[in-house]
Amino acid sequence: MPDALGVFAFLEQSQWWTPEKMRAFQAQNLRELTQHARATTRYGQDHCADFGDARTPFDWAAWARQPILTREDVATRYADFLSNRPPAGHGPFSEVRSSGSTGHPVRVRTTRLVNDMARAANWRAHRWAGIDWGQTLFGVMGERPGLEVGAVLGPWGPKSDPQSARGRLVYCPYEEDDTRLLTALRKSRASYLATTPHHAVHLCEVAVAKGIEIRLDTVMARGATVTDAVRQQLAAVFGARVFEQYSSKEGGVMAHPCPEGGGYHVASDCLLMEIVDDAGQPVAEGVEGRVVITPFGSTAMPLIRYDQGDRAVQGGGCTCGRGLGHIHSLAGRTRSFLRHVTGEERRITFDDVAFYRLLGAGQIQVAQVGPTEYEIRYTRHDWGVVPNPDAFLQQARPQFFDDVAIRLKAVDRAALNASGKWRDTVVEWS
Ligand SMILES: [Zn+2]
Repeated sequence: MPDALGVFAFLEQSQWWTPEKMRAFQAQNLRELTQHARATTRYGQDHCADFGDARTPFDWAAWARQPILTREDVATRYADFLSNRPPAGHGPFSEVRSSGSTGHPVRVRTTRLVNDMARAANWRAHRWAGIDWGQTLFGVMGERPGLEVGAVLGPWGPKSDPQSARGRLVYCPYEEDDTRLLTALRKSRASYLATTPHHAVHLCEVAVAKGIEIRLDTVMARGATVTDAVRQQLAAVFGARVFEQYSSKEGGVMAHPCPEGGGYHVASDCLLMEIVDDAGQPVAEGVEGRVVITPFGSTAMPLIRYDQGDRAVQGGGCTCGRGLGHIHSLAGRTRSFLRHVTGEERRITFDDVAFYRLLGAGQIQVAQVGPTEYEIRYTRHDWGVVPNPDAFLQQARPQFFDDVAIRLKAVDRAALNASGKWRDTVVEWS
């Protein structure tokens, strides 16, 4: 089995395949993964169709009839999805937990191969974005016992890349005190900061409040959608651009912005990503749907048509010449849906930066605090214009149900969770 470097060398080539060649490569991977699931998992035995071998054309219509797995399925029937014979060459295997933003925390058994594919796909996108592996990267991550903020975790670029020296990766846990974090960030002279968009904006707010000046080349944002409001705040305070990656613990690194054509390229050589409607059928170009993934390396626990809980808009192909899948935009996470007592659902979004300017907000969270009561919480940000909360409420109102009460509440800081996120919507009554 190739290691991350081997996968990287492969991905550098495969991105230029024709869409037809990519499709054939995907078909072969899907055949092998479903075969493996049928032979080694309870779920596969009962639910996976047989897609034959390379001598017959792949039946994509039958593929679209494969059931879609929800996070709830995987959370409640973990053992059914577990392979009793994962390929030793794909190991070691490890348990990952993805944060339960939809109310269904998911535990998944993942492979070294998925991890290596994720690293390699990320390196490929670094190249697209002109990221320099010789520079220092300040990485905010889950706590590692025994390590202090500022500890050097070693180089972070691909080991054998002759084109660059290898820069330092500096460690910092999400739980670190803000001032200590910013001091360490400054001291590290890092060009790059890797964290969630919510956490990065929070750091902007603290830096401004405490008068700590930080200049960064790029914020590498992961774990949530990057809105224009986020982009503008990071540019204004840190002078930084945003490098966006769409990733999950279950699926690895799934998509990155195209450096030339706009939109995002799917890592189609690492996973199949389908954008589907409620019936599980592929949507047309420009249409928003659910993100359903099948990671080719998920052999310890095959995830076959797994609904990631996110939404994206189907792309129409790109002019850059890459044969990778294409999506126009990430439409945010389904957790932005709020449910009325009658069962009706609405999606609440404040993606438009105009909302932030009107409210004088840095970040916004909508909390349902009673059956018909909502609180819009926000941190403050000076956009250089006088805030107008009444106008904000007037423009936000149509997104909400008619019979609910909405109040605004400025907060001193976003209450980030352990993975550095401030959920767009929360329900705080039962
Ligand atoms: Zn492109």
